[in-house]
Amino acid sequence: MEQVDAVIVGGGVAGCAVALRLARHGRSVVVLERGRYPREKVCGEGLMPHGVAQLAALGMLGPVLQSGARRFEGIAWHIGDTSAIGRFPEGFGLGVRRRHLDAAFAQRCAETAGVDLRLGASLRSFTTDTAGVTVATDDGPVRARAIVGADGRGSLVRKQLGLAATSTASRRYGLRNHFRLAAGRSEGVHVAVYASDRVELYVTPTGPGEVNLAALCAKEDLGGDGLDAALARMIEACPPVAALLDGASPVGEAGLVGPLRREVSGVIADRALLVGDAAGFVDAITGEGMSLALVTAELAADVLHGALTAGRLDRAALAPYASGRARLTRDQTLLTEIILWGIRHRTLARHVVRQLGKHPDLFGRVLAVNSGHAALADLGLRRLATLLGV
Ligand SMILES: Cc1cc2nc3c(=O)[nH]c(=O)nc-3n(C[C@H](O)[C@H](O)[C@H](O)COP(=O)(O)OP(=O)(O)OC[C@H]3O[C@@H](n4cnc5c(N)ncnc54)[C@H](O)[C@@H]3O)c2cc1C
Repeated sequence: MEQVDAVIVGGGVAGCAVALRLARHGRSVVVLERGRYPREKVCGEGLMPHGVAQLAALGMLGPVLQSGARRFEGIAWHIGDTSAIGRFPEGFGLGVRRRHLDAAFAQRCAETAGVDLRLGASLRSFTTDTAGVTVATDDGPVRARAIVGADGRGSLVRKQLGLAATSTASRRYGLRNHFRLAAGRSEGVHVAVYASDRVELYVTPTGPGEVNLAALCAKEDLGGDGLDAALARMIEACPPVAALLDGASPVGEAGLVGPLRREVSGVIADRALLVGDAAGFVDAITGEGMSLALVTAELAADVLHGALTAGRLDRAALAPYASGRARLTRDQTLLTEIILWGIRHRTLARHVVRQLGKHPDLFGRVLAVNSGHAALADLGLRRLATLLGV
């Protein structure tokens, strides 16, 4: 059986990006994707500026813009009648339907020498030996020198490697649908987040006159009368979103995923590494999952290429990926945890949003952390004190 350099399980943003980066290094890869494109995916669909920069570096910005993606300038937070609008200090975000983004990635993989993208091919299991990895798929066996788990939040690769950790109870779910706005209504130039007592709604411009509405909530907020009905109730309970969607028509049916949080005990093993959501997921509230997947995919490909060149693919040889990934994701993960904590303490959250509204420059700095352009420590104690009003 022919042996390729790497088999990548999952043809979402993380898997395709690793494949394209490895191919640039002259590596041969097989990408196994159980689905077929185009396909929908439950996501807020807001790509932060560092993710947009990755798209550009992969030569994918043009095709993605042509698919109807919308630029956004920043994030607007609304808690009750308190609001703040922040602009990205660098670059811009992109609201892009996953239907188009993932299909564009798959198309680029299909056109790239060295990448063999196999659609409708599911991983069943794999075994690792001293010379490589043998992967059983429903499309026949594949032999590779290493395996990359890019198979999303429910990763089977992670499970087989024994890297799945017990999740601390998170009961947050994500629900979303697209809406075509009534004539004369604009999709806007920000991702707008509306936090209420139980639910956060966020609206992302995803096309001309079109938005994606994502709701983050507990399972009990879904009720028992169907996803579309649950989303309709959440919209009705949030007057500004109800006003925006007045006269709008849903595009397709609502979709749900959850629980959102996935813990991992590690991201590397002998001849194996995890990227994207397979390497762990905290929450969708800060909307940087795709961007982190793209940024860490570049690192994964660089480390894997180095290890393949050196002929050493044991856990120690892949350790620079684990440490580099921890460094790249640490502050954004911490910011997500802080925001999750904040939205459980409504009075404080309202106060912080009020402060952000009064100090747009400070909001810009927070967004710089959120979009990977600055470290949390750069905010400094003085600005932190301003935020907390102490
Ligand atoms: C409600 C919600 C809102 C979000 N909002 C945002 C946002 O606004 N901005 C943002 O950047 N991120 C957001 N995210 C996070 C973002 O969706 C993920 O971080 C991103 O999709 C991760 O990409 P991935 O390639 O790792 O995984 P995925 O996109 O999940 O891709 C995994 C792929 O693996 C395939 N696969 C799985 N198992 C197998 C198998 N056994 N064999 C073969 N193939 C397999 C799947 O079919 C899939 O195509 C949100 C997430 C949720 C849940």
